[in-house]
Amino acid sequence: MTISTTVVPTRYWHRLEDGRVQCDLCPRACKLHDGQRGMCFVRACEDGEVVLTTYGRSSGFCVDPVEKKPLNHFLPGTPIFSFGTAGCNLACRFCQNWDISKSREIDTLADAASPEGIAAAAERLGCRSVAFTYNDPVIFHEYAIDVAQACHERGIRSVAVTAGYMCAEPRVEFYRHMDAANVDLKAFTDRFYHELCAARLEPSSCRSSRTISRTCSSTEGPSSCLGVVAILNTIDECRRAVPPRAVNPELSDDSRR
Ligand code: SF4
Repeated sequence: MTISTTVVPTRYWHRLEDGRVQCDLCPRACKLHDGQRGMCFVRACEDGEVVLTTYGRSSGFCVDPVEKKPLNHFLPGTPIFSFGTAGCNLACRFCQNWDISKSREIDTLADAASPEGIAAAAERLGCRSVAFTYNDPVIFHEYAIDVAQACHERGIRSVAVTAGYMCAEPRVEFYRHMDAANVDLKAFTDRFYHELCAARLEPSSCRSSRTISRTCSSTEGPSSCLGVVAILNTIDECRRAVPPRAVNPELSDDSRR
């Protein structure tokens, strides 16, 4: 069964002199002719404008413990309503959700999910928060913000699980609507980002963390977690990059296997 996705206009783009349009949501800055899709596959050029093609469609829902996001001091012991869409603006070779993040099939987005519908389902299932997860919410920026607003109207918190690969202006707007975030730092070197994620280190997680501490909307204060993807990072690299107290002294490279 093929379900058509919902296409909505977007804000972060501009027209180029050669007739193409450039998406300004993430540092990839995809330059598109009419009919072309960006690297994330879900933002495209239609009628000379950049649109989001996956608004209101989900690749799946699940009720998880909030600690699975993983958040340790945010509504501890409560269930969180998790959902995602399809596509991603990174290309990590070690992606665990590759069937969703690299999906080119519209059937992946099998469930209709309006912002109000997601907020109502979370409330019905006793969840005090909703997580944008499975794939990166950066690429469905407009949809994630509308879901967060619908959730806030019911007193439900919003949580982003993201790599934070986003340009400055949309980044500030995005985190203003989030109550908590887990920003996955893939590695400590630009070479790692370049060779294994087809991205760059600098515009991603670290800047996100600084933005979160200024803009996250939770009444309990911003809650953020910088998660380091363990695979292919050595413990020595971790120790060089972060304060000593942040790394368990008992860890060794053998303990990751
Ligand atoms: S959000 Fe998608 S279309 Fe926009 S620059 Fe990033 S990868 Fe390209």
